[in-house]
Amino acid sequence: MLLCTKIRLQVSATDAATLEFMQVKCRALYNWWIMRLRDGEHWPGWAEANASLQASKAHDPELGFVYGKLLHEVYFRLDKAMTAFFRRAQAGESPGFPRVRPRHAFFTLCYPAMYVKVEGDRLALPTGGGGKTSLPKLYSNVVAQLTESAPANYREVAISRDARGHYYASFVTEQPNAVPRCGGVVAFDLGIKILATGVNEQGRVYTIGGFKGHHWYNHQLDKIRSKRDRCQKRSRRHVHLSQIYQRVSERKRAKQRDCLHKAAHFIAHRLVESTVVIGDLSQRQMVMKAHQDKYAQQRRQLHRAVFNEWGLYRLTQMLEYKCLRFGKELYRIDERYTSKDCSVCGHRQDMPLWKRTYRCGTCGLVIDRDVNSAINIRQRFLARLGPHTDSSVRCAASQAQQSNSF
Ligand SMILES: [Zn+2]
Repeated sequence: MLLCTKIRLQVSATDAATLEFMQVKCRALYNWWIMRLRDGEHWPGWAEANASLQASKAHDPELGFVYGKLLHEVYFRLDKAMTAFFRRAQAGESPGFPRVRPRHAFFTLCYPAMYVKVEGDRLALPTGGGGKTSLPKLYSNVVAQLTESAPANYREVAISRDARGHYYASFVTEQPNAVPRCGGVVAFDLGIKILATGVNEQGRVYTIGGFKGHHWYNHQLDKIRSKRDRCQKRSRRHVHLSQIYQRVSERKRAKQRDCLHKAAHFIAHRLVESTVVIGDLSQRQMVMKAHQDKYAQQRRQLHRAVFNEWGLYRLTQMLEYKCLRFGKELYRIDERYTSKDCSVCGHRQDMPLWKRTYRCGTCGLVIDRDVNSAINIRQRFLARLGPHTDSSVRCAASQAQQSNSF
């Protein structure tokens, strides 16, 4: 499997300017192609597009100062975007034409491994011009300092920048697949109130709480924002408060991400059970859409809370690669009615989200709502009663998808 290690870079001001210049040029090339394609131009495939680079260079001589491999990478990315677009269009999904990259976002620079040098904590990134080319070297090679030691045998290095102007290098490494473990099934119900509730075959319950600080952080952020909005725009105080806002929201995001990583690590590494079963989130979204009624507005807010703030989707993605890494199997099954059905007698009753305890009207079972769903998911998995969604995806199937996400 492919793993990606993201390391913060210390970059001098001149080197930062060089990286900025290169990303601006790469993005310009990308956007120029996208705009032409949008106007009906035929995408010739990356090889032919690559051959048009000389013409582009003649048009914009500054492209010569950008490292050539980065420009070639732009064509690969265009090709990937167009292939994905055609695949979606063919499969009847919403096609989603590739978009023009905005100016405020950093256009990630991808270096193949053989052109990047790591010596100790120094990362050397080449720039264009000089050498055999007839151009002078306008920008000298970037030498950035790594804040952690780089992994060995990386395949490529992607340079990115976050909203606060920090630079990062992502090293993609090939990891051997872990030896499959054996024994045991644990089923997890993912929720809003409690991040994950699991039940294994012996009936042991695992409860993973998740991030607790949303309320506190949202309160802080609202306070800062209201202060900022009372200042004149672009005044020193406005700029200062904007920076604070960014810093606090980044801290919130980082803590939340950390919690998700810890939860996923707990499930994928610490638990002895080798098979992990979770409900299929894509199904849940459809269920929610189907139930739009007079509370639509509230539901939407809840929806946002589940899918943006809580990051359940992100958790499933982390589980996918962590299970693969630690030799476990991950199954997704349809979780329709798992929270409504009684896990003992199968009686079905409505369970609005505020009801935290399941009280069965037929057999008198009193059990926590999430535990009940987890037991149902486990039973459904063990009995293979269906209705299953797409033949229960094994995590190996998503390996290819994982490899290209940075
Ligand atoms: Zn019952």
